[in-house]
Amino acid sequence: MTMNSLLFKAVEGKRLTPAEALDILKNASWTDVVEAGNTVRHRLNPGNKVGYTAFRIVNYTNVCEITCSFCSFCRPAHSSEAYVLSLDEIRQKTNEAKAKGADQIFLQGGVNKDIPLNYYVDVLKMLTRELGVKVRGFSPVELKRIAEFNNMTLDELLDILKEAGLSSVPGAGAEILSDRMRQLLSPKKLPAQVWCGTLATCHRKGLPGSANIVFGSIETPEEIIEHLDYVRKTQDIAQGFKSFVVWTFQPQTDKFPIRHVRGDEYLKLLALSRLYLDNIPHIEVSLLGMGLSLGELGLHSGADDINSIVIEENVLQNHGLTTIEAAEEFIRNAGFTPYRRSLNFD
Ligand code: SF4
Repeated sequence: MTMNSLLFKAVEGKRLTPAEALDILKNASWTDVVEAGNTVRHRLNPGNKVGYTAFRIVNYTNVCEITCSFCSFCRPAHSSEAYVLSLDEIRQKTNEAKAKGADQIFLQGGVNKDIPLNYYVDVLKMLTRELGVKVRGFSPVELKRIAEFNNMTLDELLDILKEAGLSSVPGAGAEILSDRMRQLLSPKKLPAQVWCGTLATCHRKGLPGSANIVFGSIETPEEIIEHLDYVRKTQDIAQGFKSFVVWTFQPQTDKFPIRHVRGDEYLKLLALSRLYLDNIPHIEVSLLGMGLSLGELGLHSGADDINSIVIEENVLQNHGLTTIEAAEEFIRNAGFTPYRRSLNFD
């Protein structure tokens, strides 16, 4: 197929094969891919609306045994900087977020074996029943390890957390779903297949979330397509990804090679994600990682959502928007009509 006919195939709603997506990633002009991505965005999400949500990330502990090479946030348990937030501290952070208009909390930790199961249950109950916020929380590796620490299956753990108030699980810790890259990034993290299987279990339990890609290291184009294909196959099985976010690695440590991602490279992958992930409703542009100028272009390249207003973010520096007014103004200035959504797009 010629490049034009490949892009036309995707625009028409026919599914791209991995080989076709690779051909587009390697050989198509970025402007053509962006145009196709924008067309598909308007076919799948007609109208002029762009979504945002407002939440606070609460990093309930910084103790983590996974020690990803790119992470500057985690501390060993014996470190003088190690912490686990008390319920009162989480309550205070949540009330601060609510005062700024946030209605969702994103609980994210390290993997800390010293935290008892009751802590998670008590935190979730407090957040949802006492404070009335919705909670997305726990990456696949956190869930797998918490289940192991408590000698239970993932299914059993999810039942307990859902009953306590958890309503969504993030697709965190995906980075690049290629086992070669995962060995380099974080040998203790879940292999790609296990990451997908863990989220499929969450989704079947009624705990949807988002998926993402983090690129801009020494991943190959083949590994990027492998990643997209893992996500698409997982979505075919369990339909729990409400959106897909395209991120780039941010400089945090010198233990992991990252490269500068050009704007056109970012937009091309954003648009290709829109073309390839025909079974995921929304594509989010990452203002947090890429900044506002490129974010605006992303809304004309396949994205129909600006990711989120993040009230607190410890793992990354915040380059995004921090108030609801700023988010709505940004969306309007980009030529769209803002609408506020929940973390689960419901
Ligand atoms: S990125 Fe997450 S899982 Fe990896 S070391 Fe940091 S806190 Fe732990």
